[in-house]
Amino acid sequence: MTSPPASVDGFVKQFLQNLNFDIGVSLSESSKNDQYLALAGTVRDYLMARWLDDQRRQGDLQAKGVCYLSAEYLLGRQLDNNLLASRLTDIASDALAQCGIDLDELRQLEVEPGLGNGGLGRLAACFIDSLATIGVPSIGYGIRYEYGIFRQTFEDGQQVEQPDAWLALGSPWEFPHPEAAQQISFGGHTETYDDDGVTRSRWIPGWNVQAVPYNYMVPGYHNGRVNTLRLWSAVATSAFDLRIFNSGDYEEAVRAQTFAENISKVLYPEDSTPQGKELRLQQQYFFVAASIGDFLENVLADGYDLAKLPERVIFQLNDTHPVIAVPELMRVLVDDKHMEWDAAWAITQQCFAYTCHTLLPEALEVWPVDLLGRLLPRHLEIIYRINDDFLEEVRERFGDDELRIRAMSIVGEHPFRSVRMAHLATVAGSKVNGVAELHSQLLRDKVLHDFDEFFPGKFTNVTNGVTPRRFIRLANPDLAGLITEALGAGWTVDLERLRGLEAFAADPEFRERFAAVKAGNKRRLAAVLRERDGLDVSEDHLLDVMVKRLHEYKRQMLQLLHIVTQYDRVVSGRVAASDITPRTFLFGAKAAPGYAMAKSIIHLINAVGEVVNDDPRVEGRLKVLFPPNYNVTLAERVIPAADLSEQISLAGKEASGTGNMKFALNGALTIGTDDGANVEIRELVGDENFFLFGMSEPEVEAQWAKGYRPAEFYQADAELRSAMDLIASGAFSGGDRSVFEPIVSNLLYDDRFMVLADYGSYIRAQAKVDAAYADPDAWTRSAILNVARTGFFSSDRSIRDYIDRIWHTPPVS
Ligand SMILES: *Cc1c(COP(=O)(O)O)cnc(C)c1O
Repeated sequence: MTSPPASVDGFVKQFLQNLNFDIGVSLSESSKNDQYLALAGTVRDYLMARWLDDQRRQGDLQAKGVCYLSAEYLLGRQLDNNLLASRLTDIASDALAQCGIDLDELRQLEVEPGLGNGGLGRLAACFIDSLATIGVPSIGYGIRYEYGIFRQTFEDGQQVEQPDAWLALGSPWEFPHPEAAQQISFGGHTETYDDDGVTRSRWIPGWNVQAVPYNYMVPGYHNGRVNTLRLWSAVATSAFDLRIFNSGDYEEAVRAQTFAENISKVLYPEDSTPQGKELRLQQQYFFVAASIGDFLENVLADGYDLAKLPERVIFQLNDTHPVIAVPELMRVLVDDKHMEWDAAWAITQQCFAYTCHTLLPEALEVWPVDLLGRLLPRHLEIIYRINDDFLEEVRERFGDDELRIRAMSIVGEHPFRSVRMAHLATVAGSKVNGVAELHSQLLRDKVLHDFDEFFPGKFTNVTNGVTPRRFIRLANPDLAGLITEALGAGWTVDLERLRGLEAFAADPEFRERFAAVKAGNKRRLAAVLRERDGLDVSEDHLLDVMVKRLHEYKRQMLQLLHIVTQYDRVVSGRVAASDITPRTFLFGAKAAPGYAMAKSIIHLINAVGEVVNDDPRVEGRLKVLFPPNYNVTLAERVIPAADLSEQISLAGKEASGTGNMKFALNGALTIGTDDGANVEIRELVGDENFFLFGMSEPEVEAQWAKGYRPAEFYQADAELRSAMDLIASGAFSGGDRSVFEPIVSNLLYDDRFMVLADYGSYIRAQAKVDAAYADPDAWTRSAILNVARTGFFSSDRSIRDYIDRIWHTPPVS
């Protein structure tokens, strides 16, 4: 493999070579996609030499490394990031220009690998970027879903899901390694046997599949390092084929193959509400068993003393999805390597750490014992033993406090006997972290309180972050240029340096240039949305953005009630259209396909948009836009253009949020509750540069304790009543009152996320937004201060916190 010289001529030569010999076409006959694939191949070749070096280096190295285990990686497009990291952007652009090709045009062809649902998967992608940039020896492990998160379209305003065939036009960024496949077993039964006087267990599996690794390059930013993301794909084993071939049953052979390959077929599209589906457990075990096997057999040197495993690796569990790795490592150590149980457990407890991502009880994963026992009988036995030993210790410490023991047990009894994966992770992990200060505090005080008492010092916090490479440098090149002009280079890997911008906030000329960048980003977004969706963005409006998964706890309904209220004020004559601040409300959100209420809210957003956008009475001053298929690519366009960032979850429900960080770093002001990382954003940017509203978490608790009757809020607030009545009247559904009736009655009689209780406070905060926006120069000053003061939210800082508080891995220079 040659590494082309980083010159324009060298790049041209390598590009044409790839086009001719890899793709097999001449330049004159090549399609745009051919050109994209050849370009990707050229960038790939360039990174390859470093990658091979780094793989060798990590293999030789005795330093401790990180295995990041995550069922999701929401990577976004690869080309731009790889060009940026390897300083090839200008060279590639010039080289292509010599061939008469526009780099920008090729960029647009890449289908992003949507191997995640939302924030959790995007966090994993930011983290592997930071690990490579900081230079931590690490591997990301996950699943190569053949179909990622569905592509969302709208029909009559309602979400329709299309399969995401992201591999269809070729996948130039991955390297399959069938020779390094792992065999993964399922089902069957266990037995004990006598091994020279020692009774041991073994698992006699019923069936197995092959896990084939696909490697992806993860280049560090300007440091010449390339780490690896290893995603597993399922294929039928030859044993399967052979047995069935011999039986002469062709149909059965094909069926068996399909069965095996189903495991990595599709990403489950539920975000924060896991379904207890058997295939999902198969996916989880499949990828962690493959990853542990790979690490022990291929990354560790032959004959490595497993007693020293904690000196070589920490497996970071990104939520509970990979937690079945805990009994898997125990099984390998005890059954395969014949280690004593206690020794194996001591090792295991040092080799894992667990990141909890939620506070919603319905998001805490549990697996029915029936299902686990059928699919992974030996693992269930191991979990029982871990639980027995653990509860014994609890008894020793707290006496026979049966309530506490039942509450802490890894095996729950209600509503059916099941394994609580968060408890297993907490018992097994060397550390447990929440993802923002408030979240970590609530974990300690509430969700896992008994465990915090039992394991003092185990709980810690690492506030999430986002990579400034993708979310500033790539997404907002003009802002990046302005920052570099002001502060010099270097801030991309040392984001606290953004502090230096505070001084510039007072400079009128800088403010003007900053405002011009924002205006330019709006113009670019307008062009994108016109072309992509035929939408019309008014560039002189305040751009008010709420982009994130559709979930009731995130409260898209609250924003919608604000919009309907504004509309209602105008059409009822309470406010003259000319007196309202021109605003474009931009939504982006996918709903889980089985989440009826979320889908209904999407329908309502589109329905409100249809009516409001076309009503001459509002004189074009209110616009509701909902481009479909919110993904990383769209986020990179929308966020830099935003004036206002909506972060309006009910306090105590959003663990952290990372969208909130991306917006602040791109100079949007936040309207938000005291929830997740909003708390830290507000502390950093200052109250005067943040629109706070709503109940605090303790106030939410007090409201529940007092008894919450949402209808009372409806009765007490004439504007709220009028807005809800308007929805209920069928004004947005062609007079049909039944369409949105479930949404209205849910708010009136249930309202789990207290939309009505926070409505008044929200509307008042939005009025403050309007007032602030009336002074554009002061607004820009606040926006600059938001950028200057949020460097803390770089994922580089998160990774350094993981190193200091959890991993204790030295960076390698
Ligand atoms: C950052 C990001 C998210 C997470 O957004 P939140 O507002 O934190 O929920 C979800 N999806 C995409 C595509 C993102 O880039």
